[in-house]
Amino acid sequence: MFWSRFYIPTLKENPADADVISHTLMVRAGMIRKLTAGVYTYMPYGWRAIAKVAEIVRQEMNRIDSAEMVMPTVQPAELWQQSGRWTAYGKELLRFKDRHERDCCLGPTHEEVITDLIRGEVRSYRQLPISVYQIQTKFRDEVRPRFGLMRGREFIMKDAYTFDRDDQGADKSYWDMFRAYEKIFDRLALGFKSVAADSGSIGGSFSHEFMVLADTGEDSVAACTQCAFAANIERAEVLYKGKIADGKNAGRIEEISTPGAHTVEDLCASLKVSAQDLLKTILFLVDGKKVAVLVRGDREVNIVKLKNYFNATEVEIMPAEMVEQVTGAAVGFAGPVGLEVDALLADPEARAKDAWITGANKTDAHLKNVNLHRDVPGVIIKDLREITAGDACPECGGQIELPRGIEVGHVFKLGLKYSEAMNAKFLDENGKEQFFVMGCYGIGVTRIVAASIEQNHDEKGIIFTPAIAPFEVLIINLEPESAESAATARKLHDLLESKGLDVLVDDRNERPGVKFNDADLIGIPMQLIIGSKDNRSVEAKNRKTDARVMLPLDTFEAAFDKWKADVYKMWKL
Ligand code: ATP
Ligand code: MG
Repeated sequence: MFWSRFYIPTLKENPADADVISHTLMVRAGMIRKLTAGVYTYMPYGWRAIAKVAEIVRQEMNRIDSAEMVMPTVQPAELWQQSGRWTAYGKELLRFKDRHERDCCLGPTHEEVITDLIRGEVRSYRQLPISVYQIQTKFRDEVRPRFGLMRGREFIMKDAYTFDRDDQGADKSYWDMFRAYEKIFDRLALGFKSVAADSGSIGGSFSHEFMVLADTGEDSVAACTQCAFAANIERAEVLYKGKIADGKNAGRIEEISTPGAHTVEDLCASLKVSAQDLLKTILFLVDGKKVAVLVRGDREVNIVKLKNYFNATEVEIMPAEMVEQVTGAAVGFAGPVGLEVDALLADPEARAKDAWITGANKTDAHLKNVNLHRDVPGVIIKDLREITAGDACPECGGQIELPRGIEVGHVFKLGLKYSEAMNAKFLDENGKEQFFVMGCYGIGVTRIVAASIEQNHDEKGIIFTPAIAPFEVLIINLEPESAESAATARKLHDLLESKGLDVLVDDRNERPGVKFNDADLIGIPMQLIIGSKDNRSVEAKNRKTDARVMLPLDTFEAAFDKWKADVYKMWKL
């Protein structure tokens, strides 16, 4: 390919609306252009990178005998009503009506469509297992589309679905996918961690997210500094190993006046105590039931854990008017003593102290010397709090840290969730009807390109791994007007293409400075510079290290192969 014919509109200025480096660089390198919020055109140079990612994903899916197919983007509401997600999915589902007033949506994911297909086609256990995937455009009307391709509304996903006859088969499908994902992310040279994620009612270790560690990630990962433990913070268990107070040393409960102290900060300031001396009482509505959760003043309740504990579909913070009714006090003064709710739960850490300060269920008042054991009979002790940096690792007791991560993939054992809801069954060898045991598996193809750039860039621009690079080699001809240099460029281009490499020649009539800056900006991993010193050799530059060597033209092929091997080694490819 020749740059004079290949459209790469590079920009000198940073786009005003870009908050992360991958977004800035993808716009400046002419890879993407915004059409409207969260919706991008993939320009020729960007599309090549996306296609490279898709191809690696495709190869590894095919290797585990998953079969590629493509499902429609437009989906009928009926299927979503059957699965129960027409109401449950919320506003991320973009809904519209067709000319016959039929409700439709743009597919944010395809569990409904694939389950409908398979229940209509597959009759017998002999046809199982089935594993299929597609690489296709999704639409999710995200609340906050941002960071370019990282959180778009329209984006490309690889989604795979497996159908097995029993749990054992489904577990094998799950782990086959898991290992394929590890291979894919290794081949893409991404620094990633697979983390145990929340698998809702299925439980067990049957949901993992693949996280690219980067400061700009929107997720936090709980990772142990000593062992391999890593979990999504939504699911990370918190171990409490401290002492358990029995109440013997607690003094008598005393009411204290705390006018206007609605928040933990207010209270700490007015009583001159630390948040660790307080037990806060947070009130929720869990599927309509009134639930109170007690955690130390400096801790947060983990809503996902709460939801799973009750196997609930909806958890919300109790509205203020209801809090006032339940506690008989203004918001901020709730406490466990004498509180009437449907369930009262406390974090294990709430047993650590003999005497806590809590709300008094009375406006402008708190209680001193509250002891859980003595004063709150019937309280259920349950880990429901969010893990924090410095907590003990639930596996080895080491220290937990919370690095940021970008979720690039997700594997999930669905079990019978969709097959039951949508009545998808097959006949087993005894002629008995059984539900399919399903799994679903996603990879954010467009998000990966952004995540890779987050990990690999410098102040001059993108540094592509050869695996994702739109072109592996950039030949920079500094003398495009010289017939000899143009002939050399053409010769090298043809030779390298014949070796299976994608090659771009910068044959534009631009000053060397412009060419060098653009070359570093667009980040092709191997640069070959013609005309920098003499016409018997070319200068080879490794974009990642900036190391340069001269490759003699008369022994070019062997010299190039050796240099290329060095470059690839640095990417561990
Ligand atoms: P997130 O928590 O980031 O919203 P998700 O849990 O909604 O992700 P899944 O439904 O598991 O994501 O989708 C599979 C994959 O699709 C994700 O792992 C991610 O890589 C990608 N993905 C999801 N939402 C987006 C988006 N808005 N833009 C780009 N990629 C996305
Ligand atoms: Mg999402």
